[in-house]
Amino acid sequence: MDLKLTADELQFRDELRAWLAANVPADWDEKREESLESRFEYLKRWQRKVFEAGWAGISWPKEFGGRGASLMQQVIFFEEMARAAAPGMANVLGLGLIGPTIIAFGTEAQKKRYLSRILSAEEIWCQGFSEPNAGSDLANLNTTAALDGDHYVVNGQKVWNSYGWAADWCELVVRTDPNAPKHKGLTVLLVDMRAPGVEVRPLRQMTGESEFSELFFRDVRVPVENVIGKVNDGWNVAIGTLMHERGTFGAGLQIMYRRNIERLIELARATPRNGRFAAEDPLIRQKLAQCYAEIEIMRSNQMRAFSRISATGVPGPEGSIQKIFWSELNQRLQQVAQELLGPFGQLTPGGEFAPDNGLWSYGYLRARGNTIEAGTSEIQRNIIGHFVLGLPKSY
Ligand SMILES: Cc1cc2nc3c(=O)[nH]c(=O)nc-3n(C[C@H](O)[C@H](O)[C@H](O)COP(=O)(O)OP(=O)(O)OC[C@H]3O[C@@H](n4cnc5c(N)ncnc54)[C@H](O)[C@@H]3O)c2cc1C
Repeated sequence: MDLKLTADELQFRDELRAWLAANVPADWDEKREESLESRFEYLKRWQRKVFEAGWAGISWPKEFGGRGASLMQQVIFFEEMARAAAPGMANVLGLGLIGPTIIAFGTEAQKKRYLSRILSAEEIWCQGFSEPNAGSDLANLNTTAALDGDHYVVNGQKVWNSYGWAADWCELVVRTDPNAPKHKGLTVLLVDMRAPGVEVRPLRQMTGESEFSELFFRDVRVPVENVIGKVNDGWNVAIGTLMHERGTFGAGLQIMYRRNIERLIELARATPRNGRFAAEDPLIRQKLAQCYAEIEIMRSNQMRAFSRISATGVPGPEGSIQKIFWSELNQRLQQVAQELLGPFGQLTPGGEFAPDNGLWSYGYLRARGNTIEAGTSEIQRNIIGHFVLGLPKSY
């Protein structure tokens, strides 16, 4: 593909750049140091502003309130947001995964009811897939939904639900036919998180945040019109959601990583090591250069994933290549940061001597989850082996 920007794309970039320069809140630098939970209302207000200016749902078709941006415009959007160090969106899962799933599989009534409130952050969404005994093997899930008149009655437990504590709605995968083969008896429901019988218990991570939660469902009544896609065809709907998660989620990350590597190079120039600065140590130089080159590769991979989406309308298994790449690259980069900074790299935010106010200790700890979330590296390698390379299944 041609990576040079056309006159129209340059105009799009300049318009967005100007909007960001005028609108990224000046107090964001202080806010970002607060925990995700305490800055969440702030992120909702920011998303509302982005929505009102017509930039939310950048890839969504215009008829559903999105921007209907081309592939290259989407790349520009994510890069410019990262370059401007703009706040993230509050409704990450709604915008990236669940909205596109409703667009692909929802009824007209569902599109009308849910989509614009996802864009405006009026309603926050979470993804209820994983269970204590069903993570990588999602089809093994045990949460059930039994038909009772014009409602399904849901019972079971989900785990690791990002934003579960903030969510108004959940895309929930349940078993509706316990007698069917395990991939066949599943259905996806849109569940009101305030319905009686839904309990949310935040889980504390090693970063100190509670980004995700456990969800418990006890006789939760869900109207039949909240089935998305067909009853007992939930596997296809859920896979549609996961393809979005792997195909597009890393967008913009390479700019964030680029900022990190540039900062690390600056730190290497100022950090003493064996009687000279670390930037003069050949081993450190090689490691920094390796990360730098890999960030370039990440951008090309992202282009390839976006090309596929724009050509076919849906993300393909190639998204798994990008998922492995960004998650493992971030872990390598954070490891280099720790080697460079030594014990100072472990100081937490607020510590007097913590470089960049604890960014590196937080980054190192949070990166561990990267190779688990959205499907582990082992699972991505299985997908690439089987669906991209055509190798026999190993499981
Ligand atoms: C930060 C974060 C956010 C998350 N957010 C959400 C969310 O919002 N909603 C949600 O539903 N879930 C979420 N998850 C859960 C995530 O999807 C699961 O943790 C993941 O799918 C792995 O499942 P598991 O934890 O049950 O591990 P398991 O499936 O038990 O795997 C354990 C280990 O065995 C390996 N393994 C398993 N099967 C195979 C195989 N066939 N071949 C080779 N190796 C294998 C795995 O790679 C892993 O190393 C999140 C997880 C994290 C870390």
